[in-house]
Amino acid sequence: MLSVILPTYARAELSFERGDGAWLTSTDGERYLDFGSGVAVTGLGHSHPHLVAALVGQAGKIWHTSNLYRIPDGERLAERLTGATFADVVFFTNSGAEANEASIKMARKYHAAGGHPERFRIITFEGAFHGRTLATIAAGGQQKYIDGFGPKVDGFDQVPFGDEAALKAAIGPETAAMLIEPVQGEGGVRVVPAQMLRDLRALCDSHGLLLILDEVQTGVGRSGNFFAYEQSGIEPDIMSVAKGIGGGFPMGACLATREAARGMTVGTHGSTFGGNPLAMSVGNAVLDVVLEPAFLDRVKQAGLALKQRLAELQDRHPRVVGEVRGVGLLMGLKMRVPNVDFVKAARARHLLTIAAGDNVVRLLPPMIVTDAEIAEAVRRMDAACSDIEATMLDLEMAEPKGAA
Ligand code: PLP
Repeated sequence: MLSVILPTYARAELSFERGDGAWLTSTDGERYLDFGSGVAVTGLGHSHPHLVAALVGQAGKIWHTSNLYRIPDGERLAERLTGATFADVVFFTNSGAEANEASIKMARKYHAAGGHPERFRIITFEGAFHGRTLATIAAGGQQKYIDGFGPKVDGFDQVPFGDEAALKAAIGPETAAMLIEPVQGEGGVRVVPAQMLRDLRALCDSHGLLLILDEVQTGVGRSGNFFAYEQSGIEPDIMSVAKGIGGGFPMGACLATREAARGMTVGTHGSTFGGNPLAMSVGNAVLDVVLEPAFLDRVKQAGLALKQRLAELQDRHPRVVGEVRGVGLLMGLKMRVPNVDFVKAARARHLLTIAAGDNVVRLLPPMIVTDAEIAEAVRRMDAACSDIEATMLDLEMAEPKGAA
């Protein structure tokens, strides 16, 4: 039967009815180990008791009042976010793309408020992904997302990743900011070296540009730090956050210094749902867990354990796995076979992984993953690699070398 859901997703024939920690149970009763976390969202696993209690407790009190009134849990969450980061102010959104929209608008308005409305262009980097709104597809610059949707939103200049000369050449009198993910997630788990981030910061400072970091995928613990920028020693002016901040409840945030946000006065931006009491209660509950003193140390340790085991996996299966990359619990396997073949083979072994650009498979386990679950996931990846190797062998037998 033809589905009445718009066919914009290539969905697997699989659905789930419950989840518990790193595990999901499908509607036909099978258990799957979840190393995708709903694309870096369920960072505290499924059905985390503290998050469930927060959401259920809030649901019995009040759901929505709008931003016409103060939202005390939102003020508390914003205070905690600014207390733990570079930022002075927060704007809450419902998604990552909206967080980036807020960041982009803020950077433009900063210059307009300073008497330079002509400075509206933003430099972005090849391989980027910033969302699916009209502005964020233009920022991401990927033709496959832009084609057919009318004129590309103006104001984004994309440069090749790591090309210093192109970057310097792209800075002009209309440039307002640079926008970059500290690790390109969708682009294939490409880590921006700390020195490159420091160089970008210096370049922004010397040209009066704002540095915007998109930490939608890397943020809220996934890198092993609260935010990935901490590993480079620099601070952004503006930062987009989403995914993990809600643990599965849809929410996002744009964080900024008071200076960068100087143009965002009453009436300049808004959202009906952004910062709604349900989202705020869950966001605070996520921070209760992630900001516990030992939590991020454990993420770092789990990330190292996973990386080590993945390196061993690569050694055992060099024809399948070409490279291991990533930070914390945002890891990628650059494949020597099509990444989607591996995702399918792993799924057949009841392990969920996610394909990314550059023929990479992303591994994004929940941050509460145990060492035993990491070992189990790698056992399943081993089995998936062996399944793929067996198919390769069958093909080679059927088509001996030199055959026409
Ligand atoms: N920015 C980055 C780095 C992302 O990875 C994503 C989503 O994958 C987005 C922005 C868009 O977020 P959303 O899908 O919540 O709009």
